[in-house]
Amino acid sequence: MKQLAPLFILLVCICTVPATSQLHSLDENHPCLEKTFPVLIHLTVDSTDRQQFLGDMQVTDMMNKVSSFFEPICMAFEACEINVIENYTFHNIVDPLRLEELKILFGKPRRLNVYILGDIPNASCGVSTTYGINEKGGEYIFLETEDCEDELAGQLAHHLGHYFGLQDTYHGSTLEIVNDANCAVVADSICDTPSDPFGKYRDVGDYEDVQPGLIEMIEFVQDCEFIHENLDPNGNYYQPDVGNIMSAYPCRCGFTNEQFRKMSSNYLLSSHKPY
Ligand SMILES: [Zn+2]
Repeated sequence: MKQLAPLFILLVCICTVPATSQLHSLDENHPCLEKTFPVLIHLTVDSTDRQQFLGDMQVTDMMNKVSSFFEPICMAFEACEINVIENYTFHNIVDPLRLEELKILFGKPRRLNVYILGDIPNASCGVSTTYGINEKGGEYIFLETEDCEDELAGQLAHHLGHYFGLQDTYHGSTLEIVNDANCAVVADSICDTPSDPFGKYRDVGDYEDVQPGLIEMIEFVQDCEFIHENLDPNGNYYQPDVGNIMSAYPCRCGFTNEQFRKMSSNYLLSSHKPY
């Protein structure tokens, strides 16, 4: 566990500095995209008190925080409209087909539609389309507020990462080993995100690709410190970046330089820019 201490200290530092300007100066090569995305926020109401989940100010705060994560590539997100869905049966989704219904009933073209719901079955905090910016109909993000440890801004930033083509740091069933030998071809295919064994072990010593519903977050992080003790096949300890926005851990700090580069090039390469 000794090896984990420097990483943890580094993460704490990254999270407590005035984030955006410092991150910006870490890499001068990021293209500045100068793009503000219009976002339509859809809010359901709770079935008991029939109140919308967030007030207008809270929505603005959330969007400001999300935008700060993307500031190094000069992307921002602005809530141009808030739509309150009074039909409370959309709050806790039972049948995933109801998400399609939400798109048809309330979705609007030429903006990013973000739905903030109660519960979504089998969703791991939310649902989005990977590289949705390149796809007609990809501009829908669904977030859940129940059974999710993440704060909403971090959760939305995570799904925007998917929207611009990033994978989870623990993506896929093949194990990324610690010394980076296979970092370019497995998991998120990005080498400046350390290998992340989330979901690959259920018990110490047992490699297994675990179904999302069976993964216990508490086996991996406590107070944003990585505590899992499995070794990789070469006998090395994992030291994932628990603050990475594309990890599963509820400790969102930021993206890496390679993730920024991939998102900006994906945005520029996208043939379907609906905004
Ligand atoms: Zn994800």
